Amino acid sequence: MDEVLARIPHMLAARYSLLYALSPEEERVERGIERMCAQNGLAYYRWRHTTGIRGADLADAEATRDPAAALERIASIEGPALFVFEDLHTSIGDISVTRRLRDLEPELGARRQAILVLSSTLVIPAELEKDFAVLDVPLPTRKEVARVLAVLLQSQKIDLKADLFEAFVTASLGLTEKEIKRAYARVLVDGKRFGAPDLALLIDEKARLLRRSRFLEFIRPEVGAGDIGGLGNLKDWLRQRQAGFSDRARAFGLPEPKGLFLLGVQGCGKSLSAKAVADLWRVPLLRLDVAALFTGRAEEGLRDTIRIAESIAPAVLWIDEIEKAFLQDQGGGRVFGAFLTWMQEKTKPVFVVATANEVRALPPELLRKGRFDEIFFVDLPNIHERLEILDIHVRRRGREPDQFDLLHIAEETEKFSGAELEQLIIAAMFMAFSAERELRQDDLVRVARDSVPLAVTMDDRLKELREWARPRARPASVDTRRISFFADWEAT
Ligand code: ATP
Repeated sequence: MDEVLARIPHMLAARYSLLYALSPEEERVERGIERMCAQNGLAYYRWRHTTGIRGADLADAEATRDPAAALERIASIEGPALFVFEDLHTSIGDISVTRRLRDLEPELGARRQAILVLSSTLVIPAELEKDFAVLDVPLPTRKEVARVLAVLLQSQKIDLKADLFEAFVTASLGLTEKEIKRAYARVLVDGKRFGAPDLALLIDEKARLLRRSRFLEFIRPEVGAGDIGGLGNLKDWLRQRQAGFSDRARAFGLPEPKGLFLLGVQGCGKSLSAKAVADLWRVPLLRLDVAALFTGRAEEGLRDTIRIAESIAPAVLWIDEIEKAFLQDQGGGRVFGAFLTWMQEKTKPVFVVATANEVRALPPELLRKGRFDEIFFVDLPNIHERLEILDIHVRRRGREPDQFDLLHIAEETEKFSGAELEQLIIAAMFMAFSAERELRQDDLVRVARDSVPLAVTMDDRLKELREWARPRARPASVDTRRISFFADWEAT
């Protein structure tokens, strides 16, 4: 946070006089601003609707509870200063306030003064949009969280081993200072001593908080690359980059991995792959629900998402059904424009995995070089992949794959997706279960013959997808013709 706030004196020198600090953490940011003002010789004033302007030698604050009156008052204050307005987003659109801000703007700049609106909601009237500089205040960093925890442990005389201390700090990243303190207080109230079970509770609490307040879901990846059938090229690519976030990779001269775009047929393992990335790299996985993001204040939601992802970094940010963003971005693509800029310029190790089923809505600039490290096309599984997928799911349901002729089922299931193969096994098991006997090969064969995969009815869409992908994306699967050539060749 301090790094962002340290920019304010330079902004004042460059005559930026209207600032907007976006943060859900009023108290913490306010403390930081006060500290920064003291260090830089800036007088600090604070306005709230309930108190009016408070600050150095200012009498009758009550009279300045009205925002327009407060702005009027500011005009008579001399010397370098920062005026923090805390509830201004609710009245910033009133003509008396907007007009006053526009009139004040040049005067403030000349006096090395600025008004800073501090709010968790971004509300800037159109006529002031170009005058405001928006600062995104990050959530507590690793260092800040460590400080909070160390102070608490010391006051409670609790001794924590270094690795558990680190684990608590990591588990707290992505939360606000208040949320962190509340979670720690709960551990204490429960009479616990910051042991491993408390850590699991904290992680649960974080998952709950992220889901409730934002569009993000904190997912504990229970899926590894071993749970994915096929997609050999994609898995190799990921394995090669396994240590991509390490200092060793930086020292070797490698750039930080940026992101992966997975385009493909429904139910063929895109989501599974996003989870496997996080598992393989042993970093947290955050899923952004794009559709939900655009039902609310999308710009704020996106900033919030970036703030959380960066505070948790290294992390994987999974953007599911990214195409929905372009269909729903009513701001003429402005929100997603901001996202693309972030992707291009991000400095924190947040690896983006974007998945899409549709190509029509994708703007070309999304896939321009430099945004994603690679674009993979996930097609329907070929026969070898179907065999692997069947094997995985038969095993998962507690059966031994060599009890069945799965190759035969794989031959019978052309155009089936991975999800449909999984469903096939479940349906066959129901058949056996209702007949009160064990699962048999003929159950599998019957379900395979009776099912019509979605790809048959969606043939045109599939063709369109493949045509679009051919010149733009790498196949996620190893080339099947080569495999079958070698298989045939070996068999002779
Ligand atoms: P959608 O676009 O509909 O979200 P998707 O490509 O993300 O589809 P997944 O959610 O990964 O598909 O697949 C759904 C389920 O189907 C998975 O949870 C898994 O059980 C099974 N499945 C799909 N593909 C594979 C695969 N390649 N290997 C093993 N299981 C698979």
